[in-house]
Amino acid sequence: MGEIFQAECGCGYRSGDLAVGCGMADMNRYNVPVACPVCHSVRVVELQHSPRRCRKCKMEVYYLHEAGNFAPADVARVFRVPYPWELDSTTVAVDERPAVRYRCPKCWQMTLRLESCGCWD
Ligand SMILES: [Zn+2]
Ligand SMILES: [Zn+2]
Repeated sequence: MGEIFQAECGCGYRSGDLAVGCGMADMNRYNVPVACPVCHSVRVVELQHSPRRCRKCKMEVYYLHEAGNFAPADVARVFRVPYPWELDSTTVAVDERPAVRYRCPKCWQMTLRLESCGCWD
């Protein structure tokens, strides 16, 4: 089961739907959100085969991680940074999760939230 998020920030930034996690159709696929600081965008890429660079501007993209900063993809992986959506396997309701804030790719403040808007698959 994957979960759909939208990234929202007080500066007005709002991403499109982010289908995070893995779907039933392909369990080997695991989507994680990444942000491009140049295009000011958050979107999902496949964890295993994710390109390290933005398709549009070729800038290096970053995973959002729980400490709230951008972490280079390989660093996040090496340190096994926990992702908040991995609480999915528990019965903890979304709104009881600890409030996690991320660095916004638009205003660069630590005010970006991931809001759950449902499940996919
Ligand atoms: Zn870009
Ligand atoms: Zn912002």
